[in-house]
Amino acid sequence: MPFVVAATWSFGLRAVSKAAEILASDGKAIDAVEEGIKVVELDPEVLTVGLGGIPNLIGVCELDASIMDGYSLKAGAVGGVRNVLNPISVARKVLELTPHILLVGSEATSFASKLGLTILEFTWKSGALEKWKELLSKMEAGTDLQPYIERIKTYAEYYRLHETISIVALDRYGNLASGSSTTGLPLKIPGRVGDSAIIGAGVYADNSVGAACTTGVGEIAQITLLSKGVCDLMRRGLDPQKACEKAIADTFRYRCYPGGIAVLAIDRIGRIGAASSRKDFLYAYMIEGMDKPELKPGVYIER
Ligand code: ASP
Repeated sequence: MPFVVAATWSFGLRAVSKAAEILASDGKAIDAVEEGIKVVELDPEVLTVGLGGIPNLIGVCELDASIMDGYSLKAGAVGGVRNVLNPISVARKVLELTPHILLVGSEATSFASKLGLTILEFTWKSGALEKWKELLSKMEAGTDLQPYIERIKTYAEYYRLHETISIVALDRYGNLASGSSTTGLPLKIPGRVGDSAIIGAGVYADNSVGAACTTGVGEIAQITLLSKGVCDLMRRGLDPQKACEKAIADTFRYRCYPGGIAVLAIDRIGRIGAASSRKDFLYAYMIEGMDKPELKPGVYIER
């Protein structure tokens, strides 16, 4: 069967290239997903993924990542992990080495450290700290005396500066996998864990149906279990495009969580779907036989 891989945003082009290289040499979908994501985690230009991106409210990077294998139906995830360059690889180790799915906070960091996956020092990505300061000053300027949570809510419009790398892949053997990795919302409250760490929300994969992944305001994907929702719709017979569009339209009921969300999916025969409540959502994809990955907008669903 021809391989297919798709990833969020324009930096997804680099992830898709790496993943396609692996899939073209008969590699497994789960390896393609992990290696593709690593490229973006390490990219110094991408301020919204990986260590050294735009940090949380107190100036610390707490990273979320998850991965799911559609063959074994196993998953691994980390939430709020610090000091790791490749949180997706820590998530993969949770999948492989433990009977659990999600490790969080300092214990997730110490799990990573036992595996030699932490680092002591890192360099901020260029411009990340300046952007953080700028955002912080804008937030405080308009909302000085409001309580903390209210301040974060009113800040939602600035949350557009957040883009996660999420990938879905189908290998030549019909195996599907899905993965996601992010620095999360800039200025998030310390300890906040987003959809990228939550199986069913940020990622889902099942060889018998398809795979899905998300990007956008993670709370929307969490409250709707968006990736699992899209897979359920595909199981009920919707093609991936219709499934993504319906799932995005369904998110509009959850009005308490402002902002936009996008979902990207492939089904078990390699058809791709993508929809978003943000006008600017783009994804990269490559189907076996194409010379190189291409970018495409997801279908915009108006609220
Ligand atoms: N979903 C991510 C989060 O909420 C951010 C993003 O994808 O833009 O942490």
